[in-house]
This record gives sequence, structure tokens and C-alpha cells, in this order.
Amino acid sequence: MGNTQGIESTDQGDLPIVWRDSTDPETYYEAVWGRVFNVRRDTKRQPRAVVRVSKASHIKAAVDLANKENCRVSVRSGGHSWAAWSVRDDAILLDLGNFREISYNDDSKIVSCTTPTHGKELNEFLRTKGRLFAGGHCPDVGLGGFLLQGGMGWNCKNWGWSCEQIHSLDVVTADGEEIHCSANENADLYWAARGSGPGFPAVIVRYHLNTRPLLELYESVYIFPISEYRKVLQWVIDVCPTADEGTEIVGTSRYLEGEDEISMIAAFTSFKPNREEAEKALKPIHDSRPSNSKFEIYCGTTSLAQQYVNQGEANPKNHRYCAENAYIENDADVPAALEKAFTTLPSKKAFSLYFSMNPTSRRPLPDMALSMQTDHYFAIYTVWENEADDERCTNWVRSTMREMKKHDTGSYMGDADFQVRGTKFWSQENGKKLMEIRRKRDPKGRICGYLDSGDKSGIKGLANDFDKDETNGPDSLAPQLETLAV
Ligand SMILES: Cc1cc2nc3c(=O)[nH]c(=O)nc-3n(C[C@H](O)[C@H](O)[C@H](O)COP(=O)(O)OP(=O)(O)OC[C@H]3O[C@@H](n4cnc5c(N)ncnc54)[C@H](O)[C@@H]3O)c2cc1C
Repeated sequence: MGNTQGIESTDQGDLPIVWRDSTDPETYYEAVWGRVFNVRRDTKRQPRAVVRVSKASHIKAAVDLANKENCRVSVRSGGHSWAAWSVRDDAILLDLGNFREISYNDDSKIVSCTTPTHGKELNEFLRTKGRLFAGGHCPDVGLGGFLLQGGMGWNCKNWGWSCEQIHSLDVVTADGEEIHCSANENADLYWAARGSGPGFPAVIVRYHLNTRPLLELYESVYIFPISEYRKVLQWVIDVCPTADEGTEIVGTSRYLEGEDEISMIAAFTSFKPNREEAEKALKPIHDSRPSNSKFEIYCGTTSLAQQYVNQGEANPKNHRYCAENAYIENDADVPAALEKAFTTLPSKKAFSLYFSMNPTSRRPLPDMALSMQTDHYFAIYTVWENEADDERCTNWVRSTMREMKKHDTGSYMGDADFQVRGTKFWSQENGKKLMEIRRKRDPKGRICGYLDSGDKSGIKGLANDFDKDETNGPDSLAPQLETLAV
């Protein structure tokens, strides 16, 4: 079937396709893994073919082909899912990386874009229109996977989930139909697209997104020795509920360049029309800061472009990663619960993150699949270079998660791996409704769905529950979740 480039025309028209069984291994490997961010890879998963989508008609043609071949379809937009959900054994992988379109409507202020578009690219485009979209913090995370999971974008704690800004979307269904989804049309898919994560039962061609006015950016950053960890994290938690509504608040621990001791960092990034407003927002925080910082910036000028550079440096390419996360119950002693995670990092490039969600976590969410949140989002991003460190680093992640299990109420899909940890991703009611929509829209399981251990979940989807064994989240928390995840 394939030629030396691994590309050929098929009876599906001009579909650019690389077949596993007739392409040289190097070309095939590059097509399967070349755009996957995490270098820690499970190469036992071998897609039957990769379609390098560059226009909308390729998506329908590829889904039709999968129906004809009776095999599954997987999708890749930005390639940033930690567990490489797009790479699935014997599936036809639709790599949307070359399918890039962005347009803007001056009247509605809605931006329309294809799903590999990433946050930096979108904001560079919107800047010329005087607008902003609160996409992912990292420059090259694809909007495809990011928005499906809800999207913890810029200033999520105040502006809410990025998926709340999805006005509508165009999709190709599992049986190859091209449809539009909004609050009024195909509303079940519109509901699912805002929080289903990689179990969305269709392929998204294009998002139509509401934008917000462009603002300036200012930041205060306070760096402390890790010995001050408890005091600093408690301060961060205490200032959140009443802090200014344009200000994102993050606590991280990491090794700074050239240092052998971990630092505890509190960062406050303020989106404001001008410096005067930013100073008003950041001054009360500055005045309440703990003593003993080793470095401070108060209301420094920054920009989204600079923030993307910083995020890119914190998440370097060509590295091995293991990420995990949990929503910590609202009234937990959070600094105590996260102590091991923040103070015992297993590698010089790893970091732990506290992302404040209060007050967003205290308001009723719109009617959408996403339904899990508490005041306290916590994630670990373990980053290393050598395969020899895989076991040590992944074991640290697992044992750290076990240690906080009694305060863990559920997780965010974006930083999760269903192959290794069962947890709650939705309220009971929303999880059930989502699995029903999936079964109705994709009864044959044409779209791959959730990658659990052995890739077995299929149309059944996820259990939306903690693992039953004692190593992970406790069953005893299940009743509490119903109230927390409203
Ligand atoms: C360095 C880094 C930084 C991150 N920062 C953030 C952050 O700030 N905030 C946050 O919320 N998350 C963040 N994440 C998590 C990220 O949002 C998820 O990993 C997300 O899945 C990445 O989307 P993607 O399109 O790049 O990934 P992909 O691996 O391409 O896609 C993931 C899955 O989404 C589904 N999908 C993607 N596109 C489509 C489509 N067009 N149609 C149907 N299904 C589709 C598929 O199931 C696919 O397998 C970060 C991840 C990394 C690696």
C-alpha cells in the first residue's frame, strides 16, 4: 500500500495516509510519535495508520475509512496529553497538526479555529484585534484536548473554565456526519464537549470561541526557602478568596537554576487595563506577605509572550514526564496534606503546583459535563531526562498521591492517566449522563475514548470512581463528592 514517503492516495480521495504495515519504520515512528510531547512512551501501542489531516474534508474521509475498515479512530491536536491518548493500538490516528485555520468575526467577537491551534498562536492572532482568549498556560498545548477537559486557562480562579467560552463547535460524528453543535443544535454534544475529556464521541473540526478584551499583565513574585513552605502556602490560600478578580494565584515548589535547595514560590499575575489598577490589586497581597523571602518582584511589568516563555522553560521539550493531580477537599489542612509533594521533589526539573480555584469553585457551574472542582487544585509535574530514572520518579508520584488520599476528592482529566489511577472526574449525575451520550452517539465505539489499563474501557467509558484497592482514593469520600461537585 504505502510508498517510500508513506503517503498515498486512496479511494478516499487525496487522503494523506501512512500505513503501519507498508511504511518504513522510521517514517512510521515519526508519524506516530513525532508530535507527542512526552518522551516517556509506550511503543507497544501501534496505530494501523496515521492520516496527516490538512483540511476539513480529510476528517470525514478518515472517519469513513475507519468505518469501512471497521477499526477505531484516535485524534491528535497539540499532542500534549501526558499519556499520549492519541496513540492507540490498531486505530487510524487523525493527526490534525497540519490543519490550521483561524478567523475572527468583528461583530460577534467570536474567534473560530481548528483544534491544533495553541494558546500562544491564538493570542498572537487575537492581539491584533485587541482581544484575548484564556487558553492553557503552556505555549503549545492544543486547544483540542485542553478545551475538552475543561481547560484551566489564565486566571481560571476568577474567569472560570476556558470551556465556558465555547460558543459552538463543528464536528464529524462517529458515522461520518458533519454537524454543528451549540446550546440549540445537537446540544448533547455541546454539553459533552465541555468536560468529557478524551471520551468525546466525535471528532471536532473547529471551535467557535468567545473572546475577552485584551489587557496588560503585571506580576508579583515572592521566593522563599523551602523551610518556609507551610507559612507561605497557607498565606497563598488565605489571600485567595478576597484577592482581586483579575489576579491569578499560584504556589509552586521547584529547584531554581544552579541551586541545591528547593524554593517555595508564590506568584500573582494580574490582568489589568493599566499599572495603576494592577498596583491597587497587588498592594494588599504585598502588604500581607510573610517575612524571610529571598527574592521579590512587586507589580513588575510582564506580558503573555513572556509568560509563555517562562512556561515553556518550566516544561522543556524532549523530556520524560509523569503528571498527577487532585482536588483537595475544601476544609483540609492543605499545607500538611501537600508537604511531601512540595518538599521532596525527585528531580531537579520537577515541580509541584497549588492552583487556587476559589472563588470560581464556589459558584454554580453552567450545565456542562465538567462538574468537579474544589477550592484547592494540586498537581505534580515530574520531569526528568533518562529512562534509568523512570521507576524512581514514577514511584515517587504514586507514593506521594497515596499519602494525600484522605483529602483527595477527585481529579482533573488534563493532568491524569487512567491507566494507573482510578478517580472521580465528574459528579455522579454528570458522569452517568456523559456515558449515556457516548453510547448513543458512538454505539460501536468507533472513537477510541478513554485509555485505561489495557485500553479496554471502550463504549463503557470510565467508572468515575476511586480505585477500590487501598492504594488510591478512598471509597469513603464518594458521598461527599456529590455535594462538592455541584
Ligand atoms: C506542558 C504541558 C502544559 C499544560 N498546561 C496546561 C494548562 O495550563 N491548563 C490545562 O488545563 N491543561 C494543561 N495541560 C494539559 C493539557 O490540557 C492536556 O494534556 C490536553 O489533553 C492537551 O491537549 P492537546 O490537544 O495538546 O493533546 P492531544 O494529545 O493532541 O489530545 C488529547 C486528546 O484529546 C482528544 N482530542 C484532541 N483533539 C480532538 C479533536 N479535534 N476531536 C476530538 N477529540 C480530540 C483526543 O482524545 C486526544 O487523544 C498541559 C499539558 C502539558 C504537556
